[in-house]
Parts: sequence; C-alpha cells; structure tokens
Amino acid sequence: MEINNFKSYCDQFDRASHELGLDENLAALLKYPDRELAVELPLIRDDGSLKVLRGYRIQHNDARGPFKGGLRYHPQVDIDEVRALSALMTFKTALVDIPFGGAKGGIQVDPASLSARELEQLTRTFVRAIYPVIGVQTDIPAPDVNTNAQIMAWIMDEYSQTQGYSPGIVTGKPISLGGSQGREAATGVGVSIILRETAKHRNIPLEGASVVIQGFGNVGSWAAKTLHSYGCKIIGVSNAQGALYNGEGIDIPALIKFRDEHDSIHLSSLAEPIEADELLCLECDFLIPAALGGVIHKLNAECLRCKVVIEGANGPTTPTADEVLWGKNIPVIPDILANAGGVIVSYYEWVQNLQRHYWESNEIAQKLEKKLIDSFYEMAALAHTKKELSYRTSAFMLSIKRVAEAVKMRGRIT
Ligand code: GLU
Repeated sequence: MEINNFKSYCDQFDRASHELGLDENLAALLKYPDRELAVELPLIRDDGSLKVLRGYRIQHNDARGPFKGGLRYHPQVDIDEVRALSALMTFKTALVDIPFGGAKGGIQVDPASLSARELEQLTRTFVRAIYPVIGVQTDIPAPDVNTNAQIMAWIMDEYSQTQGYSPGIVTGKPISLGGSQGREAATGVGVSIILRETAKHRNIPLEGASVVIQGFGNVGSWAAKTLHSYGCKIIGVSNAQGALYNGEGIDIPALIKFRDEHDSIHLSSLAEPIEADELLCLECDFLIPAALGGVIHKLNAECLRCKVVIEGANGPTTPTADEVLWGKNIPVIPDILANAGGVIVSYYEWVQNLQRHYWESNEIAQKLEKKLIDSFYEMAALAHTKKELSYRTSAFMLSIKRVAEAVKMRGRIT
C-alpha cells in the first residue's frame, strides 16, 4: 500500500491550524518547507564502478532558531518523505520549546549494501554537496534511521576541514569528539518517560504493564531497556527480519546481549517467532511503533488491541488510522512529543559544543526528564479542554502557535 508521508503530515497540520483559526496565508507559510535542496552524489564503488545516488536536505522553518534535524540513509528516502520529516522537526522543537527550527535530510541508499569505505566517502560527498546550506548557526544535522555517531564524526571532520574545529555542526557525535552524555539513549529514554507519564495520567499501573515494540534499532532497543528497568513487561518486539513474542515478558538485557553478539534478535530462545503483522495486533497496554513511517494504516488500524499508542517513530500512524483509533478509544501520543528526547539532548549537546564546557550525565538526564514532563502535561491540559481534541492536534496547536508567533515577531510576513 502506497503511503504518502507528506500528505499525512499536511492533514495533521490542517486540523490543528483550522482549530487555531490560523490565517490562510500564514498557514501556508508554516506548512511548507522554506527551502529544499536535492543533490546528486557520485560514488566510486570498491570495484571501481560509478554509482550516482540522490540526497536531500530540506529546511522547513528557522523562525525559532537554526534548522535542526536528522539524516536518514534508506532506500525509501524520497522528497515527500523528507519534506514531512522536516516539518515534524519544526513542530517537535517548538512543542518542547527548544530554540531550533526544523529540517531533515537523507540519502536514498541501503547502507548495508555499502562497505565502510564507501559509506564514509558517500557521507563526505554529501557534506560537500549540502555545505552551502548547513552551519553551526544555520542548520545542524543529527542521526536518524540507519545513521549513527560514526557517520556524525565524518560529517564533523569534513566540515571542520574548511571551517576549523566545528563540533557544533552536527549532534549525536561520539563522546570523544564533543558528543553529549546520554545522547545515544535519549530518544528511547524519552519514549519511556512519556510512556510512564501517560500511564500515570491514565491510571494504568506501570509495574507489570505489557508493552509491544515494533523496531529494535536505536529507539526501540533503548526504550525496551529503559521500560524493562521500570518494571514493564515487554511481550513483543520486532525488527526488519521478523517478530518475537513472549507473554511472560522478554528478558530484554539478555536479548540485547544476544543482538550484540549475533547481530540479530532471532534464533534467540528468549521468545517465540510470530508473523510481523501479528505483532501490531497483540493485546497489550502500550504499543510503540519505533521503526518507519506509515506502519499503522487503514488496513490494520482496526486490529490494534493496545490501550495506548506511543509513537517512537516519526509519522507511524496515518490520518485514516488515527480516526479508526479515535473511534476505538485508543489514544495516540504523537511522535513530536514521544520521540522528542533525541533532539532535546541534541540541543544540550550543541549548547555544550558552543560553550566548550561539558555536563555530567545526571545533569542531562534531569533536564531531559523535566522538559518532557512539562511538555506532556501542557499537551494533555490542552487536549482536555475540548472533547474532540486529540493529543496530536493539541500538540500541533501548541507548536504551530509558537512558530507563528516567532514568524510574526520577526516580521517575515509583512
Ligand atoms: N532524528 C531525530 C528525530 O527525528 C533527532 C534529530 C536531532 O537530534 O536533530 O527527532
């Protein structure tokens, strides 16, 4: 089934801007990206052949601060997906009130098909291609799907070769190169903090709560680890290779150990294999989609049997699925809040880079926790003012209002 992430995002934006009664022209300005860059990336393969790949950097809005957002390396990366993801970043940074705008980038490639040398060359070529639009005070990339601290280190190095030592050009770096304590875990930890607050708010006991996580990459595995430490029972997990189930709760530390040793979560005796489609339909307290966009859609939304969806991924629920879930009384905690932990700690990393002074991990953890809790209750308070307001629409309303105010104050619509 074809899912257009940009159309989904537009629908979410329109609902909130309508609810806010936003002027039509201002709404159009805030909805679409400010600038879109598409680049051709020549890569000499290890066998001497030439492959040309396509990359993007889309800058959605910078009224509240420099453009900010990750880089995704995936075969499905296309301009509409990056557009949607760039906009979600603007409203994410505004919702949690950090002084950044929103951007996203990516390369249409399967990084698993490249050698380490090819991956490094491609990354460096990409930095040179987007060089005119990025900068420590203008646009700061970060990790996203299939990108990591090593790739961020190459970006920092490539940029610093012409600009001098510039750790603040990118976040999600290795700690040894100016990365922040807690950044790697931040998105998954943030998802867990939001789940914990949701449980409290909706009177679902956290201890023993059953959780299903789709995706066991950076976000999914850190969420699993953190929730396991909170006493939750992770009954189902999956990755691109397949899904696993254990009604008693999977031993997550053992599963992570198995993954680190075997580079796979399968063949593990810790849980039973099940069909990937079945995973989303398992009965549980919390379902966390933590992989790609559009996975909960009109064909499968009806089968969900969770009490709450917590969006670890960006854009996992289509607007049609949102409506189905609303009808089934299953609230959805939106991506722009649930997965904001990553960009929040990116902000702390950038601040540390600018001041060349580094904080301890407990300081970062406390700041992250407070930001997320404050933002959660702000969103929940607005949602409870009106029966027909979903958490998503409320989150968009709060953030659109902040961006609109900055755009107006800066005189960008005179
Ligand atoms: N890729 C992450 C996200 O979607 C983090 C972005 C960042 O830290 O700039 O929020």
